[in-house]
Amino acid sequence: MKSPVVIVWTNRAWFATLATIGTVMAFLLVLTYVAVKVNAPLSEAICGKTIVIDPGHGGIDAGAHGRSGLQEKDVVLDISRHLAGLFNRAAVYTVLTRDEDKGFIEPGAHSPANWKRLDLESRVNLASQHNADLYISIHANSFPEQVWSGAQTFYHSKSDEAKALAISIQKELVNRLGPNLRKAKTGNDYFVLRKPTMPAVLVEVGFLSNPREEALLAQADYRRQVAEAVFYGTVNYLLDSYKKGQPWEADESRPTSDSPREFMDIEDYTSLYSRAKAALNLDENEVVLYFAGPTNFDDDLMPEVRHIAGLEAESNPDARASKVVQELIKGPAGGSVLCPTLPRGTLLRSLKIMGNVAYVDFSKELMENHWGGSRAEELTIYSIVNTLADVSGIKEVQILVEGAQSSTIAGHIFLDEPLSPNFDIIELDRFQR
Ligand SMILES: [Zn+2]
Repeated sequence: MKSPVVIVWTNRAWFATLATIGTVMAFLLVLTYVAVKVNAPLSEAICGKTIVIDPGHGGIDAGAHGRSGLQEKDVVLDISRHLAGLFNRAAVYTVLTRDEDKGFIEPGAHSPANWKRLDLESRVNLASQHNADLYISIHANSFPEQVWSGAQTFYHSKSDEAKALAISIQKELVNRLGPNLRKAKTGNDYFVLRKPTMPAVLVEVGFLSNPREEALLAQADYRRQVAEAVFYGTVNYLLDSYKKGQPWEADESRPTSDSPREFMDIEDYTSLYSRAKAALNLDENEVVLYFAGPTNFDDDLMPEVRHIAGLEAESNPDARASKVVQELIKGPAGGSVLCPTLPRGTLLRSLKIMGNVAYVDFSKELMENHWGGSRAEELTIYSIVNTLADVSGIKEVQILVEGAQSSTIAGHIFLDEPLSPNFDIIELDRFQR
């Protein structure tokens, strides 16, 4: 008489077991669906990518430094290592251009003028050899004025993808480390943005010349936050990029190649500049000198009208142009709110105009006493080029340091060819007397 009970019990157990299996399977099905919905794009968009992380400078080239002695090369290496760790955990293959306190190429037997170029060229070549999907260069900024602050991401205007990546990283930097009103900006002269064939960005993680940011960048925890911001900015870009390839999830907000240009054409700048300058009504003894702006967000070149006694009477074009450079070296006029662009101790060694090119040779202080920082380097270069290009007979400027070509002032821009003036970097609203 016991067996039916056993049978009933068995049936009930069977039922319970089946019900449990069914519930678990249904749950797994839902889970799989959700996982596929969320994780498939994530894994397909990100896993298996190769990203080159380039900690700027290294070894003998320390880059910028703060008042307490914190050096750019150390800060950016630590951030880059954290960043590589985050990517690796997301199954992204990373290549660090350096993982110790050394340049990619050490000076060795190379001439000082050539080794830095070789160093940067090798970093970019490494990215090509690894068929990298993205190139992320990490730097720390500096400026003579302590007030300048805020992390900023740069890209080359030739690449819409680099621009989208820079905007995405900048957004995370601002959200996670703010307050910061800086926006992603073009850095068309920076070697590591010009040369790579894949989307490339240069992240300036903050200003070592700003005491508050120097103190923050000295903290390991803050450096980890910077790495996280760059990581999530990159992941968001890759996800957006993946979605862009999926017609049902296209993201309208991303800039594309046919979106309206944010920047004016060079011709527009040239004519605006000519008009602004004409309105100044300069006499024969007056020139426009370019200096850096006064506040945190005036990181463009600002004009100053300078009277140079006897300029009109100087008939030798080389001597005339030299007089103008000497005024630039003196810095902004007393009482001006503008900031100098040439480092202390810089001397003009010689200036010679050949054809339409001015060959202007500075002493080593232009390099040795420069405060570093990619934008600051750009401002220094174009304060010289734009000022000289205003002198009649000069269309291009070749900057030399101690007579050498093919060198760089702060390691982001190369001076191996004559440069044309850049009107894009001038704050035209400031043309008034
Ligand atoms: Zn740098």
